[in-house]
Amino acid sequence: MFNIKIITTSSIFHFFCLSLWKDLFIMEKKLITIAIDGFSSSGKSTMAKVLAKNIGYAYIDTGAMYRAVTLYCLNNNLIDGDTVNTETLEKVMPSIEVSFSVDPATGASLTMLNGENVEHEIRDMRVSNKVSIVAAIPFVRRALVNLQQKMGESKGIVMDGRDIGTVVFPKAEMKVYVDAPAETRAQRRFDELRAKGDTSTTYEEVLENVKHRDHLDQTREESPLRKAEDAISLDNSKMTRDEQNQWLLDLYHSIVSQQ
Ligand code: C5P
Repeated sequence: MFNIKIITTSSIFHFFCLSLWKDLFIMEKKLITIAIDGFSSSGKSTMAKVLAKNIGYAYIDTGAMYRAVTLYCLNNNLIDGDTVNTETLEKVMPSIEVSFSVDPATGASLTMLNGENVEHEIRDMRVSNKVSIVAAIPFVRRALVNLQQKMGESKGIVMDGRDIGTVVFPKAEMKVYVDAPAETRAQRRFDELRAKGDTSTTYEEVLENVKHRDHLDQTREESPLRKAEDAISLDNSKMTRDEQNQWLLDLYHSIVSQQ
């Protein structure tokens, strides 16, 4: 009787270990890298964030990283008109620390610049108006791309930006390229600014900024915005948020089932 009990317990233990190992193996096998690129205010960050939450992946907003470096430049008088003091910026670049933390109250991702929460400030028009100039500087891109590649080393990540599928993770298993007319994107951004209490910025100013950034992002020499050949395009202008989220989740499941 005693022996049988021991055998049973040990069998259960072995079965448990085996199934745990199998589960871990399956999970390991199915972790992928998800790259979501597209124009400014295309809604890609919102979709990417929801997908990451739904599938338990980490989410990285690379636009926030370029915005944080731009805020640093503005706060340290390194931008004059459309000219950046690249000599000084290059010297201080290794000391600029951009990271992410989680708001314990809401669970939202917070962008940190040298340990300070700048999540709110980096979304200002002051930063939006200069970010594409800073993002076009080759040494800034090299530093941030390097950091992004380290952040995504172990896969299980959803990263959004302009060059994720082309430069940061050209081998990403899932690539999406989001687009919508500039007017639709400007209206979304304008509504967001209003919701945050910004009553001074006009729709025309936002539209101008969106078009200007599209132009700079597409025409810069260093990793311009373009669709990766193997990316799947999505024009989300006529889709509700729920439809976009479902579309992305379905795509993820179909890609993972083929891995
Ligand atoms: O995504 P978001 O609009 O916040 O990005 C801000 C700016 O950062 C973009 O207009 C673009 O100039 C730059 N950017 C980039 N490469 C990325 C992400 C953003 O050049 N991967």
